[in-house]
Amino acid sequence: MVITKNIKCPSCGVFNTNRDYCKDCDTLISFEKKQEQKVVAYKEEELKKVKYDIENPNLAERLKKHPVWLFRIVGWVLYSAYLLISAIGALIAWFVAMVAAG
Ligand SMILES: [Zn+2]
Repeated sequence: MVITKNIKCPSCGVFNTNRDYCKDCDTLISFEKKQEQKVVAYKEEELKKVKYDIENPNLAERLKKHPVWLFRIVGWVLYSAYLLISAIGALIAWFVAMVAAG
């Protein structure tokens, strides 16, 4: 059995059978293809974010390398505060897990 898919083009209204693109105006009409493209676009977006993070390290990291020593100190203070907050967060998570388990 052959499954025929009739998809109406959203931009010109022409019915297309078993086509990914409209025969009349070339608009993408395949739902699967649209999903695929969305996934690809999402991955590219994520990749951009990662690249941005690598190229733009956080404020503390940048300040730590600042030529002015005062800014470097601020960077280290921020960095320490960040580490401390992470440690406290981990400790709280551990504590909650212990309480939940007990
Ligand atoms: Zn069309």
